[in-house]
Amino acid sequence: MESGGKSSKDKVVAVVGGGLVGALNACYFARRGFQVEVFESRDDIREAKIVRGRSINLALSHRGRQALSRVGMEEKIVSKGIPMHSRMIHSLNGKQSPIPYGKKGQYILSVDRANLNKELLTEAERYPNAKMNFDHKLQDWSPDTGLMTFLRPDGSAQSLQADLIVGCDGAFSTIRKQFLRRSRFNFSQTYIPHGYLELTMPPVAGEFAMKPNYLHIWPRNTFMMIALPNLDKTFTCTLFMPFDEFEKITTGDDVMEFFQEYFPDAIPLIGVEALKTDYFRLPAQAMVSIKCSPYHINDKCVLMGDSAHAVVPFYGQGMNAGFEDCIVFDEIMDQCNEDFSAVLLEYTRVRVPDDHTIADLAMYNYVEMRAHVNSKWFLFRKKVDDILHFLLPKTIVPLYTMVTFTRIRYHEALQRWHWQNKVINQGLLVCATGAVLGGSYLIAKHPPKIQSIPIEKVWDRLLSLKV
Ligand code: FAD
Repeated sequence: MESGGKSSKDKVVAVVGGGLVGALNACYFARRGFQVEVFESRDDIREAKIVRGRSINLALSHRGRQALSRVGMEEKIVSKGIPMHSRMIHSLNGKQSPIPYGKKGQYILSVDRANLNKELLTEAERYPNAKMNFDHKLQDWSPDTGLMTFLRPDGSAQSLQADLIVGCDGAFSTIRKQFLRRSRFNFSQTYIPHGYLELTMPPVAGEFAMKPNYLHIWPRNTFMMIALPNLDKTFTCTLFMPFDEFEKITTGDDVMEFFQEYFPDAIPLIGVEALKTDYFRLPAQAMVSIKCSPYHINDKCVLMGDSAHAVVPFYGQGMNAGFEDCIVFDEIMDQCNEDFSAVLLEYTRVRVPDDHTIADLAMYNYVEMRAHVNSKWFLFRKKVDDILHFLLPKTIVPLYTMVTFTRIRYHEALQRWHWQNKVINQGLLVCATGAVLGGSYLIAKHPPKIQSIPIEKVWDRLLSLKV
C-alpha cells in the first residue's frame, strides 16, 4: 500500500520495547511489509540466564488469544498454557470452594511470561523485513523528525530515523516523556497502597501440590494471596498486601507467624524453610495505574501497551488489553489505507475510552478479589447473574464474561453491566416485595394458631432470668 509517496516496504517502523506488546507488534507491522526495527534496552532474553520480569506467569484470555491468532501464534502459546476453569477460594479454616469463571468450557490460561516473550521475538525474527536490536536503550527522540538516539552498553550512542515510532516501552516509557512536554496531553498515574511479592510452591512427589486447573485465591479482605500453575508443576504464589504490612514483617519468625494466622494451609505446601528465605529474596514491588490521552503525536508516534495504559493486575487484562491494541490498530490501518496521519488520530479516538475503562475495572477488581468474594451478597448476585445468563444468554452477560471471554469493547461492556445491574436489582426488589406482600396476605388469611400463655407465667419466667 502507498501513502505519503513511500510504499510500506520503504517505510521504517521503529518499535521501541521488545517486551510482550512490542514483540507482537513487530509481527503485525512486518506482516504488512514495513521495514521493522525493534529496539530493546535489555539483552536478548532468549540468551539471558536470569530473566527479570514483573510476574513469572500471566493469565491469557480471549482478547490476547485473538491477537495471537492473527499472527498464527495462538496454538503455539495455548499448547504451553494451563487452563484455569475456576477460581478456588481458600477460607481461613482450609475449606476450598470453586467459583467458575464462566460457562462450562470457558477458561483462562496460565502462561509463562518469559516463554511467551521469547516465542514472540522468535516469530518476529522470522520476517526478513524485521530486525531486532537488543541492548539499545532509547534516550531521546524528536517528534518533528522521528530521529531517535539509543545508548549502547559500551557507552556509545546510536541514532536512527523512522517514519513511525511505536512506543511499547512499558509503564515508565521514555517515548511518553516527549508527550508530557506537549500541550493538551492528559496524564495521570496512581500507585496503589499494595505491593506484591512472589513465592514458589514446589511439586509434591512430582505432582502439583494443589489442583492445577484453578486460579487459587486466599482472600483476606485488606490483602490476598493468589497462585497460578506452571508447566513444571510448581505454582507461583503472589502475595498482594499494603506496603505498611510488608514492612512489619522483618524476620523469618514474623513470616511464619503471619502465614500461620492467615494462610495456614499454604505453609506445608510452600515449605517452612523456603517461606522464611524466599519471602526476603526481593522487596515487594509497587503497582501503578496510568492513564493518558492522546496516544499519538501527528503521524509520527503512537503509544501501545503499558506505555499507554498500565493497569493494576487484578483483572488479568494488562497484557490482554495491550495485545488487543495491536488488533485495533491493525483494523484501523485497513480502514485508513495505512495513512499514518489518519490511522493515529482514529486509533486514539477509538482506543482511549476502552483502555481507560479497563484501568477503572482493574481498580474495581482490586477490591472484589480480596474482599467481595468473601461476601454472601456477592456470591448470591453471582448465582443470579449466572442463572439469568443461562436463561437469557444474549441479554444478560456477566461483566467478567464480557471482559474475559469476548471482544465487546471494554467501555461498552461497562455500560451494559450498569444497565443489567439496574434491571436485575429492580427485578430482585419486585420479587422481594412480592414475597413479603404474598406472605403477609397468607398470614392474614390463615393466621397460625399460637398457644396462648397466661401473663403471670410470662412474668415468672422473666423474673427467673439472670441478666
Ligand atoms: P513491558 O512488558 O513492560 O515491556 C516493555 C519493554 O520495553 C521491556 O522489555 C523493557 O525492557 C523495554 N524498555 C523499557 N524502556 C526502554 C527504553 N528506554 N528503550 C528500549 N526499550 C525499553 N496482564 C495480563 O493480561 N494478565 C495477567 O495475568 C497479568 N498479571 C500481571 C501480574 C503482575 C504482578 C503485573 C505487575 C502485571 C501483570 N499483567 C498481567 C500486566 C502485564 O504484565 C503488562 O500489561 C504487560 O507486560 C505489558 O506489556 P508491554 O510490552 O506493554 O510492557
